[in-house]
Amino acid sequence: MPHKDTANEPAPALAPEHAATVRSLAGDLYPELFQLYARLHSEPELSGQEKETAGRIASQLRTAGYQVTEGVGGYGIVGVLENGAGPVVLVRADLDALPIEEKTGLAYASKARGSLAGKEEVGIMHACGHDVHMTVLVGTARILSLLKDQWQGTLLMVAQPSEEVGAGARSMIDDGLFTRFPHPDCALALHVTPSLPAGRVGFREGLFWAGCASLELVIHGMGGHGSRPHETKDPVVMAAETILLLQTVVSRETDPSEPAVLTIGSIHGGTKGNIIPEQVVLQVNYRFFSEDTGKQIRAAIERTARGIACAAGMPEDRMPVVKDLYTGPPIHNDHELTRRSASSFRSVLGKENVIRMNRFTLSDDFSLFGSVKPKIPLCYFLLGTAREESPADSGKPCEVPGLHNPEFSPDPEPAIKTGVKAMVAAVLEALRA
Ligand code: ZN
Ligand code: ZN
Repeated sequence: MPHKDTANEPAPALAPEHAATVRSLAGDLYPELFQLYARLHSEPELSGQEKETAGRIASQLRTAGYQVTEGVGGYGIVGVLENGAGPVVLVRADLDALPIEEKTGLAYASKARGSLAGKEEVGIMHACGHDVHMTVLVGTARILSLLKDQWQGTLLMVAQPSEEVGAGARSMIDDGLFTRFPHPDCALALHVTPSLPAGRVGFREGLFWAGCASLELVIHGMGGHGSRPHETKDPVVMAAETILLLQTVVSRETDPSEPAVLTIGSIHGGTKGNIIPEQVVLQVNYRFFSEDTGKQIRAAIERTARGIACAAGMPEDRMPVVKDLYTGPPIHNDHELTRRSASSFRSVLGKENVIRMNRFTLSDDFSLFGSVKPKIPLCYFLLGTAREESPADSGKPCEVPGLHNPEFSPDPEPAIKTGVKAMVAAVLEALRA
């Protein structure tokens, strides 16, 4: 449960006249930003395929006066605005959409279809709000360009591909994000959340979003006729036992004071009711807030699958195989940067609209931006999108469609204006260092 943070509040970071300027520019830009948002929303692209989206963001940044480099780690975009001596501040948004068929009924709903490599054709939708993130990035870039006489330093506007598959931050870093461009003194990003009403932002110092890992677990068996199971080793039964026993990893093995999640989101095996297949493949995702917990879960998955295969009498050379697909650390927000950002949010949004949140078990590969050397302090914050009073505030369960839901539908005007005001304020505050 978030709670309102009013105790021991520091003074607002932005002078009232500057806060008023930021608010009015966000209002002036909104009609154009909505056009961009509706376009991005109606023409989404899947992870690793964000060609048109990236081109659109590149051209917006160029028009706003930024030096733009395209194709950084795939379709990644870096826009640089140098404005004298001062801190280097990075702002990041993500480009990709999801393989989900949109069911919002909005006038600008997506009808796009496509497929990820090796998968069936599906609908595509910005169901994680990355279209809002990009729109806020462009609005922030434009306002900071207009306000150039009020700050000194360098801005790095980063549009990252492939967040949803946990690949884009890594590919941009590997392609020189932190060597070919000025090294940032801090990095800021936001993510939409329907847990807050549009018009509000949420923050938390220290650990905020979880570390995340995905793996594929291949359970081998020995196939045969369904009528003669005694001549086979049935991987379907082994998979069922593995799934049930893995439910005890978080409930019985990890420290109850350390939040963790283990989800098996996919199971595939077999072709027909009377054939015992050769293998079953599970896809497992787990979340953690400490490296030790992550390692403990990883070890428990392998040990459990192996133990069940042994119990079934599988030979040593046909033990289950674990293929690690992605591992990323939790988002650890820098305490001072986050406190200063929250103070800047209060100056443009009013203190009643700035909420300290609890940890989330969601994850974002933005965390990798904080794991490079020299270390980059991070501030990752949440932007409310809900059209009604927050279920998180009322203590009732969330009834509005959540992230990755086909009916996820942010309230665009208050969400985009609030995101732009908050991000501009946080950047101006970071540039004061
Ligand atoms: Zn997502
Ligand atoms: Zn997302």
